[in-house]
Formats: sequence, C-alpha cells, structure tokens
Amino acid sequence: MSKTFDFDLIVIGAGSGGVRAARFAANLGARVAIIENRFFGGTCVNVGCVPKKMFSYAAEASTVTELFASFGHRFEHNGFSWETLRDNKTREIKRLNGIYQRLLTNAGVTIFNGHGRLLAPHQVSVDDEKTYSAKHILLATGGKPYVPSIEGYENGLVSDDLFYLPSLPKKAAVIGGGYIATEFATILNGLGVETYQVYRGNLLLRGFDQDVRNFITHHVQSGGVNLLLNSQVKSIEKRSDGKLLHLENQQPLLVDEVIFATGRMPNLDNLLNHELELALTPSGKVHVDSSFNTSIESVFAVGDLIEGPELTPVALEEGMWLARHLFQGAQKPISYEMIPTAVFSHPCIGTVGLTEQEARERYNKIDIYRSEFRPLRYTLSELQTRTLMKLVVDAETDKVLGLHMVGDDAGEITQGFAVAMVMGATKADFDATIGIHPTSAEEFVTMRTPAE
Ligand code: NDP
Repeated sequence: MSKTFDFDLIVIGAGSGGVRAARFAANLGARVAIIENRFFGGTCVNVGCVPKKMFSYAAEASTVTELFASFGHRFEHNGFSWETLRDNKTREIKRLNGIYQRLLTNAGVTIFNGHGRLLAPHQVSVDDEKTYSAKHILLATGGKPYVPSIEGYENGLVSDDLFYLPSLPKKAAVIGGGYIATEFATILNGLGVETYQVYRGNLLLRGFDQDVRNFITHHVQSGGVNLLLNSQVKSIEKRSDGKLLHLENQQPLLVDEVIFATGRMPNLDNLLNHELELALTPSGKVHVDSSFNTSIESVFAVGDLIEGPELTPVALEEGMWLARHLFQGAQKPISYEMIPTAVFSHPCIGTVGLTEQEARERYNKIDIYRSEFRPLRYTLSELQTRTLMKLVVDAETDKVLGLHMVGDDAGEITQGFAVAMVMGATKADFDATIGIHPTSAEEFVTMRTPAE
C-alpha cells in the first residue's frame, strides 16, 4: 500500500456504496478514510428503503384488521398515532446509524465528520479546513430529490420530509408516478390520509411491464388512492386553509400537504473545487468507465451518482467491486442484466428480467404465461385483493427472460426466483420444480399454458 499519500482510499459519502467500499478496502489492508456530513447509512437507511418499509408495514393495518375479522377476530380500533410510528422509526434508525459507524471503526476506517470536497486529483478537504491526500478517491454522495421549478414549488415537500412530519396531514397530494410516488401514495392512503396521486402519464410506473402497470394502476385506485392521471401540477398556492394545487385537466385541489416524488438527481453539491472539470452524462450523472473511473485521474464514483439502477444493492455491489478491484486485483465486470427489484406499494410489485415489451423487441418469438387470482388468504373476507403473476419466455430457447408479480410478498417471492433466473433457468426447469401447496408462489411453477 502507498506511503506517499495520507490514505490509500478516501471515500466521500457514507451511504450504501461508500460504506461498503470503505469497509471492504480496509479489510483488504488498505488505509481508508470516509467523510460524511450528514448521517451514516445514507438515503437508504435514513430517508429511504428502511424507514419507508416500516411505514409500509404500518399502512397494512386496515386491510389486516378487515382480513382477520373474517377469521373471527374482533378488533376495536383505537386510532393511529403518527407520533408513535415516527418516533419508534427514528429510534431504530439512530440505532442503525450507530451500527454503520461501528462497522467502519471496527474495520479500521478513519471517520471524518464534515463536508468533503475534491480539491484536485488525490486531494480532498474536510470542511474546507483540513486537506488529505489519497492514492484513490471515491465519490459516493448519492442522490437528492428533484423538484420541477413550477410556481410555488417551495410549498411542497419531498420524500425526505415525510419521515419527520410533525403531524400526519388529513389530505395530501403526491406528485409523480414512479417508485417513490406510488409507494408513498399507497402508504399515506393506508395510514388513513385522503390521498391524491397526480401523474402526467396514463399508467403508473413507466418502464415496468405493461400488464403490471395496468394491474397496479387499477389496484392503487381501487385501494382508495384518488388517481389523477394525464395531469400535471401547474402551480401551488399557499393559503391559510392549506395548499391549493392548480392542475392541468383537473379542477383545483386543496390539500394539507403536497409531496413531490418526481425523480432524483445526483448529489454534487459543493463536491468539487471550481477548477475541476468532472465529465457528466447527458442526464447529468457522473460519467464513469467500466471500472468506475471518472474523468479525473485517481477519482472513482459509484451508486446513485452514476448511470444505472438507483438501488441500494447495486450501490453495495459497486462499492464492493471497486474495493476488490483496487486492492485485490482484476474482477469480473458486474452484470446489470438480471437485477431484481420491488416497489413496496400496496399492492407490492416484484420484477426481475425483461418486460414483455423489451423481450418482443429483442427476441423472435416470446411465450407469455399469465395468471391472476384471489389468494386463499382473502377468500373468507370481502376484500377483493388479487395477485398477478407473469412469465416472459423465449420460445426458441425456453429461457425465462422475465418474471413479474403484483401482490402480497412480491419482493420476497421475486428474490428467490431471481437466483434461478440469474442461473439461466428455462420454463422446463420451472415446470420440473414441485410447488409448495398452498402458496401463491407455487403459481409460478404451475403455469402450463401460454396466454397467447
Ligand atoms: P422515478 O424515476 O421512479 O419516478 C419519477 C416520477 O416523476 C415519474 O413518474 C416521472 O414521470 C415523474 N416526473 C419526472 N419529472 C416530472 C415533472 N417535471 N413533472 C411531473 N412529473 C415528473 O423516481 P423516484 O423519485 O420515484 O425514485 C428514484 C429512484 O429511486 C427509482 O428510480 C428507484 O431506482 C429508486 N427507488 C427504489 C425503491 C425501491 O427499490 N423500492 C423505492 C424508491 C426509490 P414519467 O414516468 O412520465 O417520466
């Protein structure tokens, strides 16, 4: 390891990618420092996946209560305390912050609490006071919410704010139709908030399989969210009785809170010395080559700063890959082909591989297997909850190209099948697998006849 520099690796940003790279590099014997000015664990642990999933569980209460009433239980609903949920969540997140810090110190990583800035190749500063040198520098500062600059945008909140709201609004509008918007619209709805979701498209979740989009759009609406499709917010007016949204193609809407979930952008705030020129991609992300080198010598970037899926496990994989690449030797490139993902909306979506539309563009002949059913769990109740499962198969090689699900436990179920998909499972392999009865997941191994 180099002695000419203060450290072998300095990481700016202690989120998923940064912490993983720092820990792995230190475990490989490198002298590593990490700079963080906010919270350890980054977006996912603090204002993303983890607290969002806690809220998502909380939002199941009304459905679960109705469901269990059908099994004979009698509940008396004594209301919902937002403060309890919020504060319990905050306590758990603080505990996780501590774990992240301890993981770093136990691995021998030096922690600098402050703002990291790249001054020059091999050189960073902390809070513009102290300067340190490193053989390698990793930018891992993640992303931040993007808010369109419409009139009155400052009267809206972003997803970060939702985790610390002093009180739960009675009526809220969520703007956007992607992951965050759909998750939060259904969470707020499940927590009893009168919820409106305003989306400029005609079906939620652009980029997902068309059947999934149809199914989720229908079920979000029938689940109680007021979907305002083909609409945009033109302006937000702050009034004494709330926030008045002026919308395209819709009547004005008065709500207590407006939440923008209109995408995220790389967090490059005060990250670079003025003279430095860091090449960006056309969409404004940091440009890297296949080994995560940026255009500046000695400087790397991973995670939400660069192109690719903005997913925690992807950032973790990139951080780990880079640490091994720098301090252990050549590594096989990361495959971005079969990345499973879930949207923790109500209902939940799980997906891995190609959509039907992508498969039709790339392959000559595609077989589709589709099943829609009412899970056993709901059959004693009045709940009309349904599940969608779909397989996209290459008719020539029999390889399963895509697996999609909307329904209970879609994330859990998809993760298991993703292993088979990464291994190149064929439809015959699915057929040869004996189901577990009675489960919903068994449907994936019992779909015998192509839908078309
Ligand atoms: P997405 O890209 O998923 O969605 C952004 C939404 O905002 C889209 O519906 C988009 O519309 C809409 N939009 C963009 N610009 C405007 C605008 N100017 N006016 C009106 N609407 C606009 O971003 P998210 O912020 O929801 O999430 C960011 C990323 O974070 C996701 O892509 C995902 O990778 C990750 N994530 C993952 C989660 C998980 O794993 N469960 C959970 C949350 C986030 P259109 O479709 O028309 O472009």
